[in-house]
Amino acid sequence: MYFDFHTHSSFSDDSPTPLKAMLDRAVELHIGEIAVTDHYDPGYPDPEFPFELEFDKYHQALEKYQDEYAGRLKIAKGIEIGIQSDQIDAARKAAQAYDYDYIIGSFHCALGEPLYEGHFYDGKTPVQAFRDYFEYIYDNFKVYKDYCCAGHLNLVARYSDQESPAFKEYADIVEAILRMIIEDGKGIELNTSSWRYNMAETCPSKEILEMYRDLGGEIITTGSDAHTPDKITDHFETAYEYLKSLGFRYVCTFSERKSEFHKLG
Ligand SMILES: [Zn+2]
Ligand SMILES: [Zn+2]
Repeated sequence: MYFDFHTHSSFSDDSPTPLKAMLDRAVELHIGEIAVTDHYDPGYPDPEFPFELEFDKYHQALEKYQDEYAGRLKIAKGIEIGIQSDQIDAARKAAQAYDYDYIIGSFHCALGEPLYEGHFYDGKTPVQAFRDYFEYIYDNFKVYKDYCCAGHLNLVARYSDQESPAFKEYADIVEAILRMIIEDGKGIELNTSSWRYNMAETCPSKEILEMYRDLGGEIITTGSDAHTPDKITDHFETAYEYLKSLGFRYVCTFSERKSEFHKLG
């Protein structure tokens, strides 16, 4: 049974798909549960993609569909919040204003630059870029706690046009982040889009996943990051085998922001 805990609909600026079309596809796939996690990224510095969210409409739609699909599909009310250090209050307010089942805490920007556009990397060696990114995450997770799982922790690898540095060059800061995540009772996600984009490393990387496991981390969700129906549970067979091979025994879902464990295989 697959649990896709990272999906988007047209409530997100970067998805063309009506929410209903995503849910209809999820019903066809007979999955255990889907979390709809549309984007809210306060302060995102691209006027064409402000990643605002129409909160009231979004929640009305989710609640309506939870009723309409009852018995056919379990739907978790989620959100993917983009965290930036000068927008902590906005992120906190959004997280607390509604009753979410699941909140992904993501870093699409660091130090004021969106990773997607590549300027974040300007003038930095790969080691500097990775260290800056993970230090930014660490600093923000120190003060911002309104999330369930950290989204695509190594996004910095996805948008870099250079080879990733050796893990030991930034392992210390990753360890600090993972220790904090575990101590705070939060988790991480395995984002299956790395297979879709043929990335050199998984998301997060094998080293990060192994470190998380070795530190005692157990809360892990799986998410396709689908923005269209055809990508729901994309590469989940690979992902579940991968987690098992790394020694993880459970995959998590969330309800009212509390983790629930499901045995793998
Ligand atoms: Zn994201
Ligand atoms: Zn996403």
